[in-house]
Amino acid sequence: MNQPIPFDNSYARLPDGFFEHRVPSPSSAPQLIAVNDDLARLLRIDPAFLRSADGLAMLAGNAVADGSEPIAAAYAGHQFGNFVTQLGDGRAILLGEVIGTDGIRRDIQLKGSGRTRWSRGGDGRAAIGPVIREYLVSEAMHALGVPTTRALAAVTTGDAVLREDGPLPGAILARVAQSHLRVGTFEYFAARNDTDALRTLADYAIARHYPDATEADHPYDALLRAVGAAQARLVARWMQLGFIHGVMNTDNCAIGGETIDYGPCAFMDGFDPGKVFSSIDRGGRYAWANQGRIAHWNLSRLAQALLPLLGDGEDGVTRAQAAVDTFPALFEAAHVEGFSAKLGLRPGMTEPIDGVFSLMAEGRVDYTLFFRHLTVLAQGGSAQGLEALFADTSALKEWLPSWQAALSEDAGARMAEVNPIYIPRNHRVEAAIVAAQDGDFSVFERLGRVLAAPYTDRADFTEFEAPPQPEEEVRRTFC
Ligand code: AMP
Ligand code: MG
Ligand code: MG
Repeated sequence: MNQPIPFDNSYARLPDGFFEHRVPSPSSAPQLIAVNDDLARLLRIDPAFLRSADGLAMLAGNAVADGSEPIAAAYAGHQFGNFVTQLGDGRAILLGEVIGTDGIRRDIQLKGSGRTRWSRGGDGRAAIGPVIREYLVSEAMHALGVPTTRALAAVTTGDAVLREDGPLPGAILARVAQSHLRVGTFEYFAARNDTDALRTLADYAIARHYPDATEADHPYDALLRAVGAAQARLVARWMQLGFIHGVMNTDNCAIGGETIDYGPCAFMDGFDPGKVFSSIDRGGRYAWANQGRIAHWNLSRLAQALLPLLGDGEDGVTRAQAAVDTFPALFEAAHVEGFSAKLGLRPGMTEPIDGVFSLMAEGRVDYTLFFRHLTVLAQGGSAQGLEALFADTSALKEWLPSWQAALSEDAGARMAEVNPIYIPRNHRVEAAIVAAQDGDFSVFERLGRVLAAPYTDRADFTEFEAPPQPEEEVRRTFC
């Protein structure tokens, strides 16, 4: 019989200390929530298998599919700045890897599939809310053009999970990533002074993500620089979309440059550079405007971990520091390039970028609608929608002429490609979660449909454009 999933596992071939073998825990009464047909086909998986009884059994942790070698991976990480020597997959199990029709190797991981040796006090389970949020937001990010892990399928388990506010329906997300290598994976071996394992890991990361680095004079230096460049591009993209990751700990910083670990993340409505949604981020460490600086800090943690591979003594330190020092300019370039596109500016005409943030911040103008209405204006439409966002339009009227003077010829068309109409607004995601907790997935499905084409105007989906009414606003998100 043909294997339903064409597993081709490489991480399970690494030395023992990298993971533990761990079979998912069973679910008592699993039911399918969703299957991502397009992604399944990209992975050479027949979506019909995922919808079959055998597929459901695999997704729910009740059966190990042929070719799957389930493992939980070891990693460490800096959480809110503090180093934790041992984190690891505490509620996630890697089923194995597949090579897609695009030739890219990807992990298939179950999130919420039971305890592992890294669960510490946790139950290894996920409640339906975070599963619904990650499914919607990760797929929205993909449709928006942001490198990200993706959602292959989701199931409810039939088992309740206990959380602060009482029992909630349990669920499992089948998540797909170009890998789950993190800065924290490197920190894990560095903290143990296990230079052999560190070298094995770095060689693995280079082969999987940055094969060009093998040609460099110093491959590990090239790896560090490549990760920095990927992170700079990624985090600049987040900020251009008003996305706040929420938990930019080094264990949630993926070496391959994808957005990973959708916990208390959210897109902001009204513009506020200090915006934080996460219930655990009391100091605002991971606020919208801080994300570039945090990515830089995370890169320095990777550099520190890689030191034993970067050269002896002073040499290694100098090399590491030089690589880390490339980050601010890379980030700034990605930031300016992104906002130039959002504003439809001619090359070199960056002046309007400087003024746009204070303009939006003053009245906490809706971030997505601001760029949307500006796009309409650049397309020759009316300024009414834009002006309606401001209680006082005087600052806007001062800024607009400088913007108009810097506009490129094809600004309207360019801006429409990068300024979304639909984002996963927090109150909409919350409504999908509340309905799903009651067993109604229609809200989730409808929201998923509109988010799949975020730049396409849909007359039948206008309700998804609007920011929340004050009473609908969701100020806190939980993981
Ligand atoms: P996160 O905040 O999602 O990045 O998770 C940080 C660490 O806590 C990781 O090692 C997770 O595996 C672990 N963890 C989070 N939630 C649970 C849970 N419910 N059960 C066991 N481990 C968990
Ligand atoms: Mg994590
Ligand atoms: Mg998380």
